Amino acid sequence: MQQFDIVIVGNSAAGLQAVRTIRRHSSRVSVALVDREACPAYSRVLTPYFIGGKTGRENLFIVDETFYRDMGVTTLFGQAALSLDADRRELRLAGGSVLGFGALLLALGSEARQFQPGLERVSTLRHLADADRLAALLQRARCVTALGAGLVSVPVLSHLPPEVERHLVVGSDRIFSRLLDAESAAVLEEHFQAAGVVLHKREDITGVREGERLRLSLASGKSLDSDVLLVGKGVLPNTLLAREAGLAVADGILVDDCCRTSCPAIYAAGDAAQGRDYVTGATTVQGNWITAVEQGEVAARNMLGLQQCYEGSMKNNITEVFGLDVAAIGYCSDDAPRTVVHGSLASRRYRKLFLDGKERVIGAVLIGETNDSGVYYHMVRTRLSFPGRRLVQGDAGYGAFTRQIA
Ligand SMILES: Cc1cc2nc3c(=O)[nH]c(=O)nc-3n(C[C@H](O)[C@H](O)[C@H](O)COP(=O)(O)OP(=O)(O)OC[C@H]3O[C@@H](n4cnc5c(N)ncnc54)[C@H](O)[C@@H]3O)c2cc1C
Repeated sequence: MQQFDIVIVGNSAAGLQAVRTIRRHSSRVSVALVDREACPAYSRVLTPYFIGGKTGRENLFIVDETFYRDMGVTTLFGQAALSLDADRRELRLAGGSVLGFGALLLALGSEARQFQPGLERVSTLRHLADADRLAALLQRARCVTALGAGLVSVPVLSHLPPEVERHLVVGSDRIFSRLLDAESAAVLEEHFQAAGVVLHKREDITGVREGERLRLSLASGKSLDSDVLLVGKGVLPNTLLAREAGLAVADGILVDDCCRTSCPAIYAAGDAAQGRDYVTGATTVQGNWITAVEQGEVAARNMLGLQQCYEGSMKNNITEVFGLDVAAIGYCSDDAPRTVVHGSLASRRYRKLFLDGKERVIGAVLIGETNDSGVYYHMVRTRLSFPGRRLVQGDAGYGAFTRQIA
C-alpha cells in the first residue's frame, strides 16, 4: 500500500485548485492525484466551442504533464477510485492498488443524466470522450435537436454553423429555468428566435427511433426528424463512493463550511459537494466552475491544518449564447423582493439587479455586455446596499463607483 499525506480524487477545477493551494503553502506534504480519465485536466466549459469547430482540441487542456511534475504530485490517471474505507483511511483503485491517506479530497464532479443510452446518434456531454463523439457526429449533421435548455445544450447549439437547423425541446415554459428569472429568460428567447432556433416549450421527447435519421416522438403527439439528439437534462453528482463509505450524502456529498464531510479526514469540493449557498443559506450543489475552484482552495487549506471557512457558494455563470454574452450571478429568481432593470436586448446591454428586503444586492443578470460582471459578483459577495439606479446604467458615476468597491 502506498501512503500519502493527501490524496485527491478528481483532476479538474476543484482538484487542480487544491493541488495549487497545497503547493502554495507546503512543498513537503506528499500528494497523490487520482482520475479515471487518462489525460491532463481540461475545461468542460470550452467543449461546446470545440464541438462547434471554434477551437482546436488541444486548446481544451488547462495544464500539461509538466504541471504535475512541477507540483511534485504523484498522478494516477486512467484509474478509477472504487471504494473507500473511511476508518482505515484507505482508498482502493480499480487496478487493485490501495492508497493510504492522512486526508482525502473527493473532487469527483458529476455525470450527465442519461436518456435512452445505447443509441448511436444520441449523446450527453460531460467528458472529453463525449465531446470527441459529438464533434464527429455533428460534422455530418444538417439538423440537431437538444433536449433541455441549460448550460450544456444551449452553448452547443450556439456554436454550430448557422446553416444547421436547430431545435430546442424544453419541459418548462422557458429556457434556463434554473439559471434565470422569467423576464431575463424571455429577453434571451427573443434572441434565440432571431438566431433561427426553433423552441419547443412545455414539450418532452417520449421516444427515439433510429433510422436514416432520428425520429423523435414528442409528448404533444408531434414528431421531429433530426440527425443528432443532444441531451442536457441536468447532472447527477458523483456520490456513490462517499455513500458506500457511510458519509452523509443528500443530492451531493454534504460538507460544512470547511468543505469537510461527515468524516473529519475526508473533504469534498465542486460539483460532487453540497454546501451552503451564500445568499439563501440553504445547502446546494452549485455546479459551476468558480465554486469548484473556491471549494478546492478551502478544502486544501483545511487539509493542511490552516483553518479557513468558506462564506458559501454563489451562482456565477458567464456564457455566450448565439453571439450574445450572458452572466447570471447570485440569486436571480422571480421571488426576489425587488428588481431594477435597465437597458434592452435592442441596445445589446440589458441589466437586472435583484434586491432583498433590506435593499441589498443579492443577484444580477447581465445580457450583452458582461466584462464588468466581477463588479456585480462583488456587490453580492459584500451584501452591498443598492448603489442607486444610475450606477446600474453604466453612466459617468459608474466608473468611480467600481474603482471604489474594487
Ligand atoms: C458542456 C459543459 C459546459 C459548462 N459550462 C459552464 C459554464 O459556462 N460556466 C460554469 O461555471 N460551469 C460550466 N460547466 C460546469 C463546470 O464544468 C463544472 O462546474 C466543473 O467542471 C466542476 O468541476 P469539478 O472539479 O467539481 O468536477 P469535474 O470537472 O466534473 O471533474 C471531476 C473529475 O473526477 C473524476 N472522477 C469522478 N469519479 C471518479 C472516480 N471514482 N475515480 C477517479 N476519478 C473520478 C472525473 O473523471 C473528472 O475528471 C459546464 C459543464 C459542461 C459539461
